[in-house]
Amino acid sequence: MIEGKYFVDPGKFLGATEDYEKAEVVIVGLPMDYTVSFKAGSRFGPAAIRQASYGLEYYSVYLDRRLEDKKFYDLGDLVLPYGNVEKSLDLISKATEDILKSGKKGLFLGGEHLVTYGILKEYLKKYEDNLVILHFDAHTDLREEFFGEVYSHATVMRKVWDIAKGIKMYNFGIRSGEKEEFEFAEKNTHMFLYEVVEPLKGVIDDIKDYPIYISWDIDVVDPAFAPGTGTPEPGGITTKEALEAIHILKDLNVVGMDLVEVSPSHDIAGITSILAAKLIRESILSFF
Ligand code: MN
Ligand code: MN
Repeated sequence: MIEGKYFVDPGKFLGATEDYEKAEVVIVGLPMDYTVSFKAGSRFGPAAIRQASYGLEYYSVYLDRRLEDKKFYDLGDLVLPYGNVEKSLDLISKATEDILKSGKKGLFLGGEHLVTYGILKEYLKKYEDNLVILHFDAHTDLREEFFGEVYSHATVMRKVWDIAKGIKMYNFGIRSGEKEEFEFAEKNTHMFLYEVVEPLKGVIDDIKDYPIYISWDIDVVDPAFAPGTGTPEPGGITTKEALEAIHILKDLNVVGMDLVEVSPSHDIAGITSILAAKLIRESILSFF
């Protein structure tokens, strides 16, 4: 008789526990990609990230920690009414509310970046203006509207800011946007152009006593390392710097995170998915 331990479920992230009740962190896939302005396809991101996770070890030499020592559950992908932005965001908010009510932390796999709005609406209800938002992205995502649409992956951080004026929002690695967005950031957020590691080190003392939410758009990484995304933007950070950023946040009070905009059909040799999977593994081990 062969035992269950010889089998894995590539439909769940590597090392996910089978006990929801005991889990402290919950992974949810959000297969939404209807407002992507350039190359669509990130609805398949969560599945590709989970599958890629089986190429990784349970052990992280960076952190000297193992996935088996963390209790996280993978709920699978949320079923969304494709094409309906409003209803999809409502469902994402509802799923987030359930996770927060059960006292757990959400780890969300996108999907397009607009999903973050549905998630953060609930986080802001719970943590109010105490929450610190760390936004890693090539793009500002601070437009008021995009092609006439108020809700878009290009407006998401502005929509978040609008419902939580005065929120402590930090944007890292930014290298693309409209002039007005940079002016808005100058007045209202803490934006750092091009770089991630040094600016993050510089703000650690300011954020370390707050609950932190991380929104990680994979396109902050250079397209040379992460081509599988909807709006690749040259001039980005390396995979090594991306990992270092996760490690800088070690043992801080991170209460939620999303990793968005992985688009497998535009990927080459699965390198973007394997990067996303590694960032997720290191995040689980570093601060969840
Ligand atoms: Mn982006
Ligand atoms: Mn984005």
